[in-house]
Amino acid sequence: MHPVYAAMGTTIFEAMSARARETGAINLGQGFSDGRGPEPVLQAAARALLEKSNQYPPMPGLTELRQEVANHYARHQGLNLAAEEVIVTSGATEALAAAILALVEPGDEVICFAPLYDAYVPLIERAGGVARQVRLAPPHWRIDRAALEGAVSGRTRILLLNNPLNPAGSMSSAEELAMIADFCVSHDLIAICDEVWEHVTFDGARHLPLIGFPGMRERTVKIGSAGKIFALTGWKVGWMCAAPELARGLAKAHQFLTFTTPPNLQWAVAEGLATQDGWVQQARHGFQHGRDRLKAGLEAAGLVTLPSAATYFLCADLAASGIDMDDVTFGRRLIEEAGVVTIPVSAFYSEAPVTNVVRFAFCKQDAVLDDAIARVGDWM
Ligand code: PMP
Ligand code: GLN
Repeated sequence: MHPVYAAMGTTIFEAMSARARETGAINLGQGFSDGRGPEPVLQAAARALLEKSNQYPPMPGLTELRQEVANHYARHQGLNLAAEEVIVTSGATEALAAAILALVEPGDEVICFAPLYDAYVPLIERAGGVARQVRLAPPHWRIDRAALEGAVSGRTRILLLNNPLNPAGSMSSAEELAMIADFCVSHDLIAICDEVWEHVTFDGARHLPLIGFPGMRERTVKIGSAGKIFALTGWKVGWMCAAPELARGLAKAHQFLTFTTPPNLQWAVAEGLATQDGWVQQARHGFQHGRDRLKAGLEAAGLVTLPSAATYFLCADLAASGIDMDDVTFGRRLIEEAGVVTIPVSAFYSEAPVTNVVRFAFCKQDAVLDDAIARVGDWM
C-alpha cells in the first residue's frame, strides 16, 4: 500500500455516519440534507433513465450540461465561461482529484488553509506534492497577506482555496479575495478554488468566485457540485471550470479517473440548472432557518457557537463554553450518552489540530434539530 494510505484511517464523515447507523443516534455529523431535493430534477432523472441513452456520454460531460453550468455562472456570478471550459466530473471530489493530479508535480508545494477538507492533503501528497498549510483562526478564519507570503517558496505552484469554508462556515470577503488574486498573480500560482458551497450562503451575502478577480481568469480552476446546489449529495455530479489550456490537462486526468458520470443524472442537473433557481433560493432560506434554530437551541443549552455565514455547518467552541474536554472526547460522549453525532473539527487538520471546536450540521427538518437540541440540553 502507498505510504500515504498506510498511515490513514477512514474519512471522518464515513466513520461518524457509521456510528450513527450503529447506534441510532441523530446524525448531525456528515453534511447531507434530509429533504428530497427539487421534485422536477428527480423526475427529470427518472425520465432520462427510461427515455434517453444509458451508454457512455461524452468524456467531458453532456454538452447541454456544460452549457447550463456556463449559463448558471453567467446569471449568478457574472462569469463569461464557454461550455468547452466546463468539465463534468463525478462530484467535486473527482474534480479535486483530477485538478491535483493534473497540476501538481512531485516536489511542488501547494498552499492550503487549515482547517481543510479532509481529502486535500492525501490527494496532494499522493501526487507527490507538499501541502504548505496556512492556519486560520476562529472566529473569523481570515486569510492575511503576511501569512501567505510566509508560506510561499520557489517550489510553490498552486493555491488551494475552499470558499465558503467547510467546516468553519466562513466566507472570504471581496477584499480578501482581491488580495489572494493579487498574491497568485504576483507569484505566478494556479488557484484551485473549491466553491461547492457557493449557493449555501446566508443573511443576503453573495458568493464571489475567485476566477472573476483580475488576473485569475486564466489561472483558476473553479470547482462546483450539483450535490450541494440541489441538496442531492448522493448524486455526485460536479464540475471543474477553467480556461482552455488548463482544461486540457484537467480533461486528461479526468478521463482516467472516472471517464464519465451517469448520463441521466447529467440531464437532470442540466434541467435543474435551467429551471430551479427559485428552488435554490428557497433552499438557502431553509438552511438559514435551520442554522438559526440550531444556534438558538445550542446556545440555550450552554454551548458558545461561532458565526456561520455559509455551508450546512455551525461550530461550537468548547473552551469558550467552559467545557474541559477535547472535541473527540466530547463527540464520543455525545454519541454514547446523548445520542447525537457531530464532527470533531480536529479531523480537518493534518498537523497541530485545533481540538476545542465541534461541528454540527443543521441541514435537517425542524423536528430533528429540536430533538437533537433537547438531547444536548439534557446531557449538558
Ligand atoms: N469540497 C468540500 C469543501 C466539501 O464540503 C465537499 C462535500 N461536502 C466536497 C468537496 C465534495 O463534494 P461532492 O460530494 O460533490 O464530491
Ligand atoms: N462534505 C460533507 C461534510 O463536510 C461530507 C462529504 C463526504 O462525506 N465525503 O460533511
